[in-house]
Amino acid sequence: MPQFSFLNEIETVSKAGISSCYQCCRCTNGCPVAQDMDIVPHRLIRYIIDGEREKALSSGTIWTCLNCATCSVRCPNGIDVARVFETLRVLSVEAHLATAMDTRLFDEIFIENISKHGRLYEMEAVMRYRLHKKEFFGDADMGLAMMRKGRIGLTPHNIRDRKKLGKVMREMAGKVKI
Ligand code: SF4
Ligand code: SF4
Repeated sequence: MPQFSFLNEIETVSKAGISSCYQCCRCTNGCPVAQDMDIVPHRLIRYIIDGEREKALSSGTIWTCLNCATCSVRCPNGIDVARVFETLRVLSVEAHLATAMDTRLFDEIFIENISKHGRLYEMEAVMRYRLHKKEFFGDADMGLAMMRKGRIGLTPHNIRDRKKLGKVMREMAGKVKI
């Protein structure tokens, strides 16, 4: 695929004028989770401009992003960086590049859990995550300490209209092909 195509594809889908980025780093400097990203936001924008499709779509950054939109607000060129990352997430799933991602797996479990209970049932979410990873006793010490302090419970605290909320969440997840 020619290099300009990836940039063109992302600009068309996200409606963000990425090519005007002049690498000022304001997006990265304002990002609350930049230190946990494998590719910081301004570098990821650069990869898109350079046509580095696979690097961009398999980056952990797009799953670490909190979608808080601080980067979009701070960009002097009005580039909606958060929207660009959202687009990358959708394309990453479509290209099957997100399947090995821990954050992607956790994302799926989290959404399913909230859809079912209306609020997070930590015990079930963590158990499912650990079963998937086949790391049965990972975080066990921390889990026990949290239970002792009453931070997590053995049973779920379901909300009243959880079925309605679950329907909305599943519809939304379907839209973005999660
Ligand atoms: S803030 Fe905008 S112009 Fe600056 S590096 Fe980020 S995307 Fe590019
Ligand atoms: S939307 Fe994502 S990339 Fe942008 S500042 Fe928030 S966490 Fe960082």
